[in-house]
Amino acid sequence: MPAPLKFVATTPELPAAADAVIIGGGIVGIFAAYYLARRGLKVALVEKGRIGAEQSSRNWGWCRQQNRDARELPMATKSLDLWERFAGETGEDTGFRRCGLFYLSNSDEELAGWARWRDFARTAGVTTHMLDGVEATERGRATGKPWKGGVFFADRRHRGSGVRSTGRRGRDPEARRNSPPVLRRPRYRDRRGPRLRRCHGTRHHSHQNRGACRRCLGVLLLPPAWHPLSAGLYPLFDPFGVSPGATGLPDALHTAAVSVTRRGDGGYTLAISGGGRVDLTPQQLRFAPHFLPMFVRRWRSLAPGGLQGIRSGHETLARWRLDAPTPMERMRILDPAIDKRTIRTTHLRALELLPALKNTKITAAWAGYVDSTPDGVPGIGEIATVPGFILAAGFSGHGFGIGPGAGHLIADIVTGDEPIVDPRPYHPDRFLTSAWGKVADF
Ligand SMILES: Cc1cc2nc3c(=O)[nH]c(=O)nc-3n(C[C@H](O)[C@H](O)[C@H](O)COP(=O)(O)OP(=O)(O)OC[C@H]3O[C@@H](n4cnc5c(N)ncnc54)[C@H](O)[C@@H]3O)c2cc1C
Repeated sequence: MPAPLKFVATTPELPAAADAVIIGGGIVGIFAAYYLARRGLKVALVEKGRIGAEQSSRNWGWCRQQNRDARELPMATKSLDLWERFAGETGEDTGFRRCGLFYLSNSDEELAGWARWRDFARTAGVTTHMLDGVEATERGRATGKPWKGGVFFADRRHRGSGVRSTGRRGRDPEARRNSPPVLRRPRYRDRRGPRLRRCHGTRHHSHQNRGACRRCLGVLLLPPAWHPLSAGLYPLFDPFGVSPGATGLPDALHTAAVSVTRRGDGGYTLAISGGGRVDLTPQQLRFAPHFLPMFVRRWRSLAPGGLQGIRSGHETLARWRLDAPTPMERMRILDPAIDKRTIRTTHLRALELLPALKNTKITAAWAGYVDSTPDGVPGIGEIATVPGFILAAGFSGHGFGIGPGAGHLIADIVTGDEPIVDPRPYHPDRFLTSAWGKVADF
C-alpha cells in the first residue's frame, strides 16, 4: 500500500530548451528546482513516476538537528529556517510545525551517547536539554512508566510526511509562472530529451558572470535509491499510520522500542527507529567493501530482506539498452511490499508504550527503501569527469528534513552563488580517496 500522497499534475511534453534539468522529483529535486527557478533559471524537472511518490512521501517527516553528524548539522540547521521561510514565500501550508523532539531511554549507554552529542552540539550553538529520571518520567507520563532519562530538543518537524504539492501549478497564476514545469520522463521510443546546451562546469561561475550562467546547463541527478552511490546498503523501513483518537501523547517521541510521530490529521505514524530489512542484491555484493564500516556499526538493527529488489527487477547488474525499456521505465514507482511481521511487532510495542493508542486503528502501512552512502552523509557535488553534471544522492535517512538545504546548496553550485553551507564535506569525490570514510556518528 503506498503512503498517503497528494497528486501533483505533470506533463509528458518536453520544453525546447532548459537552463537546468533535474532528474528526480523527490524533496531534494523539488527544492533544487524551486531555488533555481527563483533565481530566474528555466528549470525542467523530470520524474519517471509521480512527484514525491518514493522516499519523500514514505518518511516520518522528522526535520531534526538532534543527533546529526557534525558534517550534516549545518545543513540541518539551515534547513529548519528554509522550511519556515518556504511557507512564507509561497503561502503554502507544508505542515511544518515547531513541536520539539522527545527521546526517552533506560539505557545508560544510549543516554551517555546523547549527552556526548549535547556537548558537541553546544559547540555548534545548538541547545539540547538532557532530562534526568524524574523529568523524563514526568514528561513521558503518557507511557505510564518510569524512565532513567531522556532528551528534549525544542526542534521543529514536518507534521505529516510527504511532499505536499510544492509545485503549486494550476492554482495561483503567479505561483504558476514562477514554478518550474514538471515533466514525466518520456517513453523510450521518443526519448529525444530537451535541447541542451552544455555547461563547462561551475568552476568559471562567479557573481560577475551569473548572466552567462543562465545560458549554461546544469544537469542534476537526484534519483537516490536508483543510484549505485547508495546501492550498497539501502534498508527497507516499514512505518504505518493510525487514525486520530489518542490523546495526551507527545508530538514526536523516540524510544528504542518504537517511535511515534503525530500527523497533521491528528493520527500518528509509528515505526521502529533505525530498524530495517536489507535485501541481498548484486549491487550490494559489488559495493560491499565500501559499506563494511557502516555494516559493522549498524548490523544490530538490520534484518534480512526478502530479495524484493532482485525479484522486482529494480536491482540488476545488466547494462541498459537505450532502445528498450530500462528498469526505471518498467518500475515507475518503487513500492516495496510491507513486512507484516514488522508491522505487527511495531504495533504491539506502540500499544505497550502508549496505551492511549488503543483508541486508534491502522489506516495505512507502507514500506520504503532508504538510500545510504558508505559514511551516512549525502553525496552532493559536481562530477569532475562530466562538467556541469551534479550528483545529489545517498541522503541516508535524513533527506526529508535537510531537503531545503540540499536543494539550496545544489542551486548555489549551479549558479555559482555563495554556498549556503560549506559544500566540501558532501562532495562525492571523498569516496574516491577513501572508501572507508568516517561513518556518521549518530
Ligand atoms: C520509512 C522512511 C522514513 C524516513 N524518515 C525520515 C525522517 O523522519 N526524516 C528525514 O529527514 N528523512 C527520512 N527519511 C529519508 C527521506 O525520506 C529521504 O532521505 C528523502 O526523501 C530523499 O529525497 P530525494 O529527493 O533525495 O529522493 P526520493 O524521494 O527517493 O526521490 C527520488 C525521485 O527520483 C525519481 N527517479 C529515479 N530515477 C529516475 C529517472 N531515471 N528518471 C526520472 N526520475 C527518476 C524517483 O521516481 C523519485 O521520485 C525516511 C525514509 C523512509 C523510507
